[in-house]
Amino acid sequence: MAGFKKSLNKEYVTSTGTVVKRLISGRCNVYLISGNSVNIIIDTSTKRNYKDLLQAIDANGISRIDYLIITHLHFDHIANAAELKKRYGLKILINKNAESLLSDNLNEKIAGTNIFTSFISFLTRTFKSLISYSSFEADILVENNFLLDNLGINGMILFTPGHTPHSISIIIENEVAIVGDTLFGVFKDKIFPPYAEDVTELIKSWKALLKTDVKLFLPGHGLEISRDTFEKEFIKKRESLGLRF
Ligand SMILES: [Zn+2]
Repeated sequence: MAGFKKSLNKEYVTSTGTVVKRLISGRCNVYLISGNSVNIIIDTSTKRNYKDLLQAIDANGISRIDYLIITHLHFDHIANAAELKKRYGLKILINKNAESLLSDNLNEKIAGTNIFTSFISFLTRTFKSLISYSSFEADILVENNFLLDNLGINGMILFTPGHTPHSISIIIENEVAIVGDTLFGVFKDKIFPPYAEDVTELIKSWKALLKTDVKLFLPGHGLEISRDTFEKEFIKKRESLGLRF
């Protein structure tokens, strides 16, 4: 059957058989894309979740991971990148323009979109140890609309700035997208992220994501978001912000 088969362990199978699975949730979702002969991990979650992540990888019978794609450089998405690279010898893919941050162990800017998250982002600027991560080097630097065919997956990277200046999304077979923090899935129908460096850019990125045929959007935090919910929220947000695109 074409389309998605949603099972209890959060597995999505595209019409040509690529499996997209949520390995762990917790602080941050980590996804696994399995194609014919390739395993790709998306994001890594925090150090505290590292053991859970390794257990989930083993429980899925995965012994080889070829690539780690990082949606954006925030500590809760990259904290285990160095360890995973050492353990599996995988190659790390990031947005080309974010590379300079890695040499100084920096996060991309964290900016709240409400009073509470603005305060949290102030704390992270003040207490930098809260957002530290083990340093690592990237192997594949991508620019907008990078095709994933070379990695063995029918898909592409879409540049989706807004949450951070260098955020990217992964579009798989034009059916399912892994979007990092460009969408937020923790509260039903409240998909606007609590942090965004540039809100106008973010809504433009929402539009770019909706230009694809993707039916299901998988966020960095929380549960999957349907196209229907996403379209409604896009129209609402565009209007409330007075944006004309
Ligand atoms: Zn983030």
